[in-house]
Amino acid sequence: MGERLGGCSCNATRYRLTEEPMFTHVCHCSICKRHTGTAFVTHVFLETAYLEVIEGRAVPYAGQTGSGGEHWVHRCPACQTALFSHYAGNNQIALIKGGTLDDPGSVTPGAHLWVEGKVPWIEIPAGVPAFAQNYDAATVWPIAGFERRRKAGWG
Ligand SMILES: [Zn+2]
Ligand SMILES: [Zn+2]
Repeated sequence: MGERLGGCSCNATRYRLTEEPMFTHVCHCSICKRHTGTAFVTHVFLETAYLEVIEGRAVPYAGQTGSGGEHWVHRCPACQTALFSHYAGNNQIALIKGGTLDDPGSVTPGAHLWVEGKVPWIEIPAGVPAFAQNYDAATVWPIAGFERRRKAGWG
């Protein structure tokens, strides 16, 4: 399996993913829109152990969540691009912002959430699970991916 590379908009901070993601989803909530400045976020779930910052730095900043839980957004300190997040006090899993990958098309979302907030000009492909609000990963994720998530302490 090939590794993936990504980075910020000013190119000071670069990262490498050395394992296939557990899962990828697209969130259409208003907070993700604001964090990314666009219509949705693509979140690529991966064990943090497989995410290496290879140039520059990713600095954590406190972010908001819809649930009110803990959220740390890691940004390039030079250009402030949001690169990845840790949620719910779990630092073992990183949610990489898919738009920062050199090849954002190399990951395919397996679910869409907070679709009740989706902009009308995005159409979700037929057959991809879509949820008005949040979803239960235990029933939506493939078993292997969910097992990795559980092992990393986020059931
Ligand atoms: Zn930067
Ligand atoms: Zn969201």
